[in-house]
Amino acid sequence: MSVRPVYLDNNATTRVDPRVVEAMLPYFTEQFGNPSSMHAFGAKVGGSVREAREKLQALLGAAHDHEIVFTSGGTESDNAALISALEANPLRAEIITSVVEHPAILSACEHLAKTRGAKVHHIGVDAHGRLDIEAYRKALSDKTAIVSFMWANNETGTINPISELAGLAKDAGALFHTDAVQAVGKIPIDLRNTPVDMLSLSGHKLHGPKGIGALYVRRGTRFKSMLKGGHQERGRRAGTENTPGIIGLGVAAEIAHQNLESDMPRIAALRDRLEKSLLQRVGNAFVTGDPHARLPNTTSIAFEYIEGEAILLLLNRAGIAASSGSACTSGSLEPSHVMRAMGIPYTAAHGAIRFSFSRENTKEDVDQVLEVMPDIIARLRELSPFWSGEGPSTGAFQPTYA
Ligand code: PLP
Repeated sequence: MSVRPVYLDNNATTRVDPRVVEAMLPYFTEQFGNPSSMHAFGAKVGGSVREAREKLQALLGAAHDHEIVFTSGGTESDNAALISALEANPLRAEIITSVVEHPAILSACEHLAKTRGAKVHHIGVDAHGRLDIEAYRKALSDKTAIVSFMWANNETGTINPISELAGLAKDAGALFHTDAVQAVGKIPIDLRNTPVDMLSLSGHKLHGPKGIGALYVRRGTRFKSMLKGGHQERGRRAGTENTPGIIGLGVAAEIAHQNLESDMPRIAALRDRLEKSLLQRVGNAFVTGDPHARLPNTTSIAFEYIEGEAILLLLNRAGIAASSGSACTSGSLEPSHVMRAMGIPYTAAHGAIRFSFSRENTKEDVDQVLEVMPDIIARLRELSPFWSGEGPSTGAFQPTYA
Protein backbone atom coordinates (compact mmCIF):
# COMPACT_ATOMS: atom_id res chain seq x y z
CA MET A 1 0.00 0.00 0.00
CA SER A 2 1.44 3.35 -0.97
CA VAL A 3 1.59 6.05 1.67
CA ARG A 4 0.27 9.55 1.15
CA PRO A 5 3.26 11.92 0.91
CA VAL A 6 3.41 14.72 3.46
CA TYR A 7 5.98 17.44 2.90
CA LEU A 8 6.97 19.30 6.05
CA ASP A 9 10.45 20.43 5.05
CA ASN A 10 9.60 23.79 3.54
CA ASN A 11 12.55 25.58 5.16
CA ALA A 12 14.78 23.37 3.00
CA THR A 13 12.86 24.17 -0.14
CA THR A 14 9.30 24.64 -1.36
CA ARG A 15 7.33 23.31 -4.29
CA VAL A 16 7.32 25.78 -7.17
CA ASP A 17 3.81 27.23 -7.43
CA PRO A 18 2.19 26.11 -10.72
CA ARG A 19 1.37 29.79 -11.47
CA VAL A 20 5.08 30.52 -11.20
CA VAL A 21 5.95 27.73 -13.64
CA GLU A 22 3.32 28.94 -16.09
CA ALA A 23 4.63 32.51 -15.98
CA MET A 24 8.21 31.31 -16.55
CA LEU A 25 7.60 29.03 -19.53
CA PRO A 26 7.46 31.70 -22.30
CA TYR A 27 10.86 32.97 -21.19
CA PHE A 28 12.40 29.65 -22.25
CA THR A 29 10.81 29.86 -25.70
CA GLU A 30 9.46 32.90 -27.56
CA GLN A 31 10.63 35.45 -24.95
CA PHE A 32 14.25 34.46 -25.22
CA GLY A 33 15.76 37.92 -25.81
CA ASN A 34 18.63 39.29 -23.80
CA PRO A 35 17.20 42.09 -21.62
CA SER A 36 20.31 44.18 -22.33
CA SER A 37 19.69 44.13 -26.11
CA MET A 38 18.42 47.27 -27.85
CA HIS A 39 16.01 45.47 -30.19
CA ALA A 40 12.42 44.45 -29.60
CA PHE A 41 13.31 40.91 -28.44
CA GLY A 42 15.40 42.35 -25.64
CA ALA A 43 13.14 45.29 -24.76
CA LYS A 44 10.13 43.04 -24.20
CA VAL A 45 12.03 40.83 -21.78
CA GLY A 46 13.61 43.90 -20.17
CA GLY A 47 10.09 45.18 -19.41
CA SER A 48 9.13 41.88 -17.77
CA VAL A 49 12.29 41.92 -15.65
CA ARG A 50 11.34 45.44 -14.50
CA GLU A 51 7.88 44.21 -13.50
CA ALA A 52 9.40 41.33 -11.53
CA ARG A 53 11.65 43.78 -9.73
CA GLU A 54 8.63 45.89 -8.80
CA LYS A 55 6.81 42.85 -7.42
CA LEU A 56 9.76 42.02 -5.20
CA GLN A 57 10.03 45.66 -4.20
CA ALA A 58 6.40 45.54 -3.06
CA LEU A 59 6.91 42.38 -0.99
CA LEU A 60 9.91 43.94 0.77
CA GLY A 61 8.37 47.38 1.20
CA ALA A 62 11.42 48.81 -0.56
CA ALA A 63 11.32 52.42 -1.68
CA HIS A 64 12.85 51.90 -5.14
CA ASP A 65 12.84 49.03 -7.61
CA HIS A 66 16.50 49.57 -8.45
CA GLU A 67 17.41 48.62 -4.88
CA ILE A 68 16.82 44.99 -5.95
CA VAL A 69 19.81 43.14 -7.43
CA PHE A 70 18.98 39.71 -8.83
CA THR A 71 21.48 36.97 -7.90
CA SER A 72 21.66 33.19 -8.08
CA GLY A 73 20.18 32.77 -4.59
CA GLY A 74 20.71 33.22 -0.89
CA THR A 75 24.29 32.00 -0.81
CA GLU A 76 25.47 34.41 -3.51
CA SER A 77 23.59 37.32 -1.93
CA ASP A 78 25.15 36.62 1.48
CA ASN A 79 28.66 36.34 0.02
CA ALA A 80 28.23 39.46 -2.13
CA ALA A 81 27.07 41.58 0.82
CA LEU A 82 30.04 40.69 3.02
CA ILE A 83 32.63 41.00 0.27
CA SER A 84 31.25 44.32 -0.93
CA ALA A 85 31.23 45.75 2.59
CA LEU A 86 34.94 45.04 3.05
CA GLU A 87 35.88 46.30 -0.41
CA ALA A 88 33.78 49.43 -0.26
CA ASN A 89 35.01 50.40 3.22
CA PRO A 90 38.77 49.71 3.24
CA LEU A 91 39.30 51.54 6.53
CA ARG A 92 37.05 49.10 8.37
CA ALA A 93 38.04 45.42 8.48
CA GLU A 94 35.79 43.85 11.10
CA ILE A 95 32.64 41.79 10.67
CA ILE A 96 30.09 41.09 13.38
CA THR A 97 27.84 38.09 12.94
CA SER A 98 26.24 35.41 15.10
CA VAL A 99 27.07 31.81 15.95
CA VAL A 100 23.74 30.58 14.54
CA GLU A 101 24.00 31.96 10.99
CA HIS A 102 23.68 29.80 7.89
CA PRO A 103 26.96 28.44 6.46
CA ALA A 104 26.55 30.91 3.57
CA ILE A 105 27.53 33.59 6.11
CA LEU A 106 29.75 31.60 8.48
CA SER A 107 31.93 30.02 5.77
CA ALA A 108 32.20 33.32 3.89
CA CYS A 109 33.37 35.02 7.11
CA GLU A 110 35.93 32.28 7.71
CA HIS A 111 37.20 32.73 4.17
CA LEU A 112 37.39 36.53 4.51
CA ALA A 113 39.30 36.14 7.77
CA LYS A 114 41.83 33.88 6.08
CA THR A 115 42.20 35.70 2.78
CA ARG A 116 41.65 39.35 3.70
CA GLY A 117 42.58 39.40 7.37
CA ALA A 118 39.06 40.38 8.40
CA LYS A 119 38.43 40.12 12.13
CA VAL A 120 35.15 38.32 12.76
CA HIS A 121 33.15 38.65 16.00
CA HIS A 122 30.69 35.79 16.58
CA ILE A 123 27.89 36.89 18.90
CA GLY A 124 26.39 34.13 21.03
CA VAL A 125 22.77 33.26 21.76
CA ASP A 126 20.80 32.06 24.79
CA ALA A 127 18.88 28.80 25.19
CA HIS A 128 16.07 30.15 22.98
CA GLY A 129 18.43 31.31 20.24
CA ARG A 130 18.14 34.98 21.22
CA LEU A 131 21.18 37.14 20.49
CA ASP A 132 23.36 38.48 23.28
CA ILE A 133 22.70 42.14 22.54
CA GLU A 134 25.14 43.36 25.20
CA ALA A 135 27.98 41.39 23.57
CA TYR A 136 26.93 42.85 20.21
CA ARG A 137 27.03 46.41 21.59
CA LYS A 138 30.53 45.79 22.95
CA ALA A 139 31.79 44.34 19.66
CA LEU A 140 30.64 47.36 17.62
CA SER A 141 33.30 49.96 16.94
CA ASP A 142 34.57 52.35 14.30
CA LYS A 143 36.38 49.33 12.81
CA THR A 144 33.15 47.46 12.06
CA ALA A 145 32.63 47.28 8.31
CA ILE A 146 29.45 45.21 8.41
CA VAL A 147 27.09 43.51 10.81
CA SER A 148 25.23 40.48 9.48
CA PHE A 149 22.44 38.90 11.54
CA MET A 150 19.81 36.62 10.06
CA TRP A 151 16.21 37.83 10.14
CA ALA A 152 14.95 34.38 11.13
CA ASN A 153 16.78 31.17 11.91
CA ASN A 154 16.30 28.28 9.49
CA GLU A 155 16.35 25.56 12.17
CA THR A 156 14.36 27.03 15.04
CA GLY A 157 12.47 29.87 13.36
CA THR A 158 13.70 32.34 16.01
CA ILE A 159 13.19 35.91 14.75
CA ASN A 160 15.79 38.57 15.53
CA PRO A 161 14.77 42.14 16.47
CA ILE A 162 16.15 43.41 13.17
CA SER A 163 15.18 47.09 13.51
CA GLU A 164 16.90 47.38 16.88
CA LEU A 165 19.99 45.46 15.71
CA ALA A 166 20.27 47.50 12.52
CA GLY A 167 19.83 50.76 14.43
CA LEU A 168 22.82 49.94 16.65
CA ALA A 169 24.98 49.24 13.59
CA LYS A 170 23.94 52.51 11.98
CA ASP A 171 24.85 54.40 15.19
CA ALA A 172 28.36 52.93 14.89
CA GLY A 173 28.61 53.93 11.22
CA ALA A 174 28.65 50.27 10.12
CA LEU A 175 26.68 48.63 7.33
CA PHE A 176 23.91 46.27 8.36
CA HIS A 177 23.06 43.16 6.33
CA THR A 178 20.42 40.58 7.11
CA ASP A 179 20.06 37.08 5.72
CA ALA A 180 16.28 37.11 5.33
CA VAL A 181 16.13 33.91 3.27
CA GLN A 182 13.78 32.29 5.80
CA ALA A 183 11.76 35.41 6.56
CA VAL A 184 10.78 36.79 3.15
CA GLY A 185 7.32 35.60 2.17
CA LYS A 186 6.66 34.21 5.66
CA ILE A 187 6.41 37.35 7.79
CA PRO A 188 5.82 41.01 6.88
CA ILE A 189 8.91 42.98 5.92
CA ASP A 190 8.89 46.73 5.55
CA LEU A 191 12.24 48.09 4.47
CA ARG A 192 11.03 51.67 4.37
CA ASN A 193 10.87 51.50 8.15
CA THR A 194 13.69 49.06 8.92
CA PRO A 195 17.17 50.55 8.67
CA VAL A 196 18.95 47.61 6.98
CA ASP A 197 21.39 48.42 4.19
CA MET A 198 21.36 45.00 2.55
CA LEU A 199 19.07 41.98 2.66
CA SER A 200 19.40 38.50 1.11
CA LEU A 201 16.52 36.38 -0.15
CA SER A 202 16.08 33.22 -2.15
CA GLY A 203 13.36 32.22 -4.62
CA HIS A 204 13.06 28.55 -3.75
CA LYS A 205 12.04 29.25 -0.15
CA LEU A 206 8.85 31.03 -1.24
CA HIS A 207 7.49 28.71 -3.93
CA GLY A 208 9.74 30.24 -6.58
CA PRO A 209 12.42 28.49 -8.64
CA LYS A 210 15.82 27.39 -7.41
CA GLY A 211 18.95 29.23 -8.51
CA ILE A 212 17.43 32.69 -8.32
CA GLY A 213 17.46 35.17 -5.46
CA ALA A 214 18.13 38.79 -4.78
CA LEU A 215 20.20 41.14 -2.73
CA TYR A 216 18.42 44.30 -1.63
CA VAL A 217 20.91 47.19 -1.56
CA ARG A 218 19.52 50.38 -0.09
CA ARG A 219 19.93 53.44 -2.30
CA GLY A 220 23.10 55.29 -1.37
CA THR A 221 24.93 52.19 -0.06
CA ARG A 222 28.41 51.94 -1.55
CA PHE A 223 28.51 48.61 -3.33
CA LYS A 224 31.20 46.66 -5.18
CA SER A 225 30.19 43.84 -7.48
CA MET A 226 31.59 40.45 -6.50
CA LEU A 227 31.42 39.20 -10.11
CA LYS A 228 33.48 41.03 -12.70
CA GLY A 229 32.07 41.35 -16.20
CA GLY A 230 29.22 43.17 -17.90
CA HIS A 231 27.15 46.03 -16.53
CA GLN A 232 23.99 44.10 -15.74
CA GLU A 233 22.00 45.02 -12.63
CA ARG A 234 23.42 48.57 -12.76
CA GLY A 235 26.94 47.21 -12.48
CA ARG A 236 26.20 45.37 -9.26
CA ARG A 237 25.96 41.80 -10.60
CA ALA A 238 27.71 40.96 -13.85
CA GLY A 239 26.35 38.20 -16.09
CA THR A 240 23.36 37.80 -18.40
CA GLU A 241 20.25 37.67 -16.27
CA ASN A 242 18.45 34.40 -15.45
CA THR A 243 15.30 35.80 -17.02
CA PRO A 244 12.95 32.81 -16.50
CA GLY A 245 14.11 32.67 -12.88
CA ILE A 246 13.59 36.40 -12.38
CA ILE A 247 10.08 36.23 -13.83
CA GLY A 248 9.33 33.23 -11.59
CA LEU A 249 10.66 34.98 -8.50
CA GLY A 250 8.54 38.03 -9.34
CA VAL A 251 5.35 35.99 -9.52
CA ALA A 252 6.27 34.05 -6.36
CA ALA A 253 6.79 37.37 -4.57
CA GLU A 254 3.47 38.71 -5.84
CA ILE A 255 1.56 35.62 -4.65
CA ALA A 256 3.32 35.67 -1.26
CA HIS A 257 2.53 39.38 -0.87
CA GLN A 258 -1.15 38.89 -1.72
CA ASN A 259 -1.59 35.95 0.65
CA LEU A 260 0.73 36.74 3.53
CA GLU A 261 -1.86 38.12 5.89
CA SER A 262 -4.25 35.18 5.55
CA ASP A 263 -1.54 32.51 5.22
CA MET A 264 0.34 33.39 8.40
CA PRO A 265 -2.37 32.61 10.98
CA ARG A 266 -3.54 29.54 9.06
CA ILE A 267 -0.03 28.10 8.87
CA ALA A 268 0.71 28.98 12.50
CA ALA A 269 -2.49 27.20 13.58
CA LEU A 270 -1.39 24.01 11.80
CA ARG A 271 2.08 24.26 13.31
CA ASP A 272 0.68 24.89 16.80
CA ARG A 273 -1.71 21.96 16.55
CA LEU A 274 1.13 19.63 15.62
CA GLU A 275 3.39 20.99 18.34
CA LYS A 276 0.77 20.94 21.06
CA SER A 277 -0.54 17.48 20.26
CA LEU A 278 2.92 15.97 19.95
CA LEU A 279 4.00 17.37 23.30
CA GLN A 280 0.80 16.04 24.88
CA ARG A 281 1.39 12.57 23.51
CA VAL A 282 5.16 12.25 23.82
CA GLY A 283 7.07 12.86 27.04
CA ASN A 284 10.64 14.09 27.36
CA ALA A 285 10.31 16.38 24.38
CA PHE A 286 10.48 20.17 24.15
CA VAL A 287 10.45 22.97 21.61
CA THR A 288 13.61 24.88 20.76
CA GLY A 289 13.56 28.50 19.60
CA ASP A 290 12.11 31.75 20.89
CA PRO A 291 8.59 31.25 22.32
CA HIS A 292 7.80 34.92 21.73
CA ALA A 293 9.33 35.53 18.32
CA ARG A 294 9.20 32.59 15.97
CA LEU A 295 8.36 32.09 12.30
CA PRO A 296 4.74 30.95 11.99
CA ASN A 297 5.71 27.94 9.87
CA THR A 298 8.53 26.39 11.90
CA THR A 299 8.76 24.10 14.90
CA SER A 300 11.90 22.40 16.10
CA ILE A 301 11.16 19.73 18.67
CA ALA A 302 13.90 17.94 20.59
CA PHE A 303 13.00 14.35 21.47
CA GLU A 304 15.34 13.28 24.23
CA TYR A 305 17.47 10.12 24.20
CA ILE A 306 17.07 9.22 20.51
CA GLU A 307 18.75 10.04 17.20
CA GLY A 308 17.03 12.48 14.86
CA GLU A 309 18.22 10.53 11.82
CA ALA A 310 16.42 7.40 13.03
CA ILE A 311 13.23 9.42 13.51
CA LEU A 312 13.55 10.86 10.00
CA LEU A 313 14.05 7.43 8.50
CA LEU A 314 10.89 6.06 10.10
CA LEU A 315 8.94 9.22 9.25
CA ASN A 316 10.10 8.85 5.66
CA ARG A 317 8.73 5.30 5.61
CA ALA A 318 5.41 6.76 6.70
CA GLY A 319 5.57 9.20 3.77
CA ILE A 320 6.54 12.20 5.90
CA ALA A 321 9.41 14.51 5.03
CA ALA A 322 10.94 16.54 7.86
CA SER A 323 14.50 17.40 8.77
CA SER A 324 16.88 17.00 11.68
CA GLY A 325 19.20 19.45 13.33
CA SER A 326 22.16 17.16 12.87
CA ALA A 327 24.81 17.35 10.24
CA CYS A 328 26.60 14.17 9.33
CA THR A 329 30.22 15.24 9.58
CA SER A 330 33.17 12.88 9.21
CA GLY A 331 31.11 9.81 9.99
CA SER A 332 29.91 10.99 13.39
CA LEU A 333 26.50 12.50 13.92
CA GLU A 334 27.06 15.86 15.52
CA PRO A 335 24.16 18.05 16.62
CA SER A 336 23.89 21.17 14.48
CA HIS A 337 25.90 24.28 15.30
CA VAL A 338 22.59 26.00 16.12
CA MET A 339 21.59 23.45 18.77
CA ARG A 340 25.09 23.50 20.24
CA ALA A 341 25.16 27.31 20.32
CA MET A 342 21.88 27.34 22.26
CA GLY A 343 23.37 24.94 24.79
CA ILE A 344 20.75 22.27 24.14
CA PRO A 345 22.03 19.16 25.96
CA TYR A 346 23.50 16.51 23.65
CA THR A 347 20.89 13.98 24.77
CA ALA A 348 18.21 16.25 23.33
CA ALA A 349 20.03 18.04 20.47
CA HIS A 350 20.63 14.68 18.78
CA GLY A 351 16.89 14.12 18.60
CA ALA A 352 15.87 17.54 17.27
CA ILE A 353 13.38 17.40 14.42
CA ARG A 354 12.27 20.39 12.38
CA PHE A 355 8.83 20.46 10.83
CA SER A 356 8.44 23.42 8.48
CA PHE A 357 5.09 24.21 6.90
CA SER A 358 3.97 26.10 3.81
CA ARG A 359 0.64 27.41 2.52
CA GLU A 360 0.18 24.03 0.79
CA ASN A 361 -0.04 22.01 4.02
CA THR A 362 -3.34 20.81 5.41
CA LYS A 363 -4.90 19.50 8.61
CA GLU A 364 -4.63 15.99 7.13
CA ASP A 365 -0.86 16.39 6.98
CA VAL A 366 -0.75 17.17 10.69
CA ASP A 367 -3.05 14.22 11.46
CA GLN A 368 -0.78 11.87 9.54
CA VAL A 369 2.25 12.92 11.61
CA LEU A 370 0.28 12.63 14.85
CA GLU A 371 -0.83 9.17 13.90
CA VAL A 372 2.68 7.75 13.53
CA MET A 373 4.98 9.90 15.63
CA PRO A 374 4.23 8.68 19.20
CA ASP A 375 4.82 5.09 18.07
CA ILE A 376 8.05 5.97 16.29
CA ILE A 377 9.42 7.70 19.38
CA ALA A 378 8.37 4.85 21.69
CA ARG A 379 9.96 2.23 19.43
CA LEU A 380 13.24 4.10 19.16
CA ARG A 381 13.39 4.74 22.89
CA GLU A 382 12.97 1.04 23.55
CA LEU A 383 16.13 0.52 21.50
CA SER A 384 18.02 3.43 23.06
CA PRO A 385 20.72 2.53 25.62
CA PHE A 386 20.22 5.97 27.20
CA TRP A 387 16.47 5.71 27.81
CA SER A 388 15.45 4.67 31.31
CA GLY A 389 11.83 5.72 31.33
CA GLU A 390 10.15 9.10 31.44
CA GLY A 391 11.69 11.66 33.76
CA PRO A 392 12.09 15.39 34.10
CA SER A 393 12.88 17.05 30.78
CA THR A 394 16.04 19.04 30.19
CA GLY A 395 13.84 21.22 28.00
CA ALA A 396 14.26 24.74 26.72
CA PHE A 397 10.58 25.66 26.61
CA GLN A 398 7.16 24.12 26.78
CA PRO A 399 4.83 26.38 24.82
CA THR A 400 1.58 27.64 26.27
CA TYR A 401 -1.39 28.00 23.97
CA ALA A 402 -4.40 30.23 24.34
N1 PLP B 1 20.49 31.48 4.36
C1 PLP B 1 19.57 30.76 5.01
C2 PLP B 1 19.08 31.21 6.35
C3 PLP B 1 19.07 29.59 4.44
O1 PLP B 1 18.15 28.86 5.09
C4 PLP B 1 19.55 29.19 3.16
C5 PLP B 1 19.08 27.94 2.54
O2 PLP B 1 18.87 26.94 3.19
C6 PLP B 1 20.51 29.99 2.52
C7 PLP B 1 20.95 31.13 3.15
C8 PLP B 1 21.05 29.64 1.17
O3 PLP B 1 20.15 29.97 0.16
P1 PLP B 1 20.29 29.33 -1.31
O4 PLP B 1 19.90 27.91 -1.18
O5 PLP B 1 19.35 30.11 -2.16
O6 PLP B 1 21.72 29.52 -1.72
